[in-house]
Amino acid sequence: MKIWKTSQGYKVIRVIAGRSNVFLLTDGKNNILIDTGPGFMWKTLEMRLKQSGVNTIDYLILTHTHYDHAENAWRIREKYKAKVIVHRSEAEYLASGDNILPQGTNWFSRLLVRIFIKKFNSFARYTPCSYDLLIDSFYDLKDPGFNAYILHTPGHTPGSLSVIIGHEIALVGDTMFGIFRGSVFPPFANDVRSLVKSWGDLLETGCNIFLPSHGSENSRELVLKEYNKRLTSI
Ligand SMILES: [Zn+2]
Ligand SMILES: [Zn+2]
Repeated sequence: MKIWKTSQGYKVIRVIAGRSNVFLLTDGKNNILIDTGPGFMWKTLEMRLKQSGVNTIDYLILTHTHYDHAENAWRIREKYKAKVIVHRSEAEYLASGDNILPQGTNWFSRLLVRIFIKKFNSFARYTPCSYDLLIDSFYDLKDPGFNAYILHTPGHTPGSLSVIIGHEIALVGDTMFGIFRGSVFPPFANDVRSLVKSWGDLLETGCNIFLPSHGSENSRELVLKEYNKRLTSI
């Protein structure tokens, strides 16, 4: 499990890596989980959390409600008594176990949506989960004791959220991808204009490390380069 340490002594542990990353933010006492991975990863997630010494989770923050991020939410809420946090605009998707239909951002992903994902979306319904806290644009995480906050970063989906830790590390969900070399642009986004604006907001946080839900970390230099490039084309 890869671990990032912040200057304030927090750990960001990538408890699941691969298909969909799952991150744990911990100060050794309080725990915040970011996303849950898809349903078939549940046993692994449970085991990794145990290995990390986690018995309770204060908050589960969902970066958005696509099934590969939210499918285990109900299990996390039940087993670890976590308060589930989601953006207001996606609360009903979570409460009904529905996926927001993604929109392709290139010819290939557009084709995928047209011939495959539209059909798949109805199969990808997941066990609904109740929510405890709804976010609009900003939420300070000082209550469970962290110098961190949640920022609304729409674009990939209308209610996409990022978690900003101490102006150092940003957990950005699918607002950026870390799979394609030299690019952070996700293959799916419901609104490209707001996506690029969200990159600008994320750069303004001062963070140097951007951790996406798919793939590995993005540097500030790369995000800045992409932001300037896309800004002229939207
Ligand atoms: Zn997504
Ligand atoms: Zn995703």
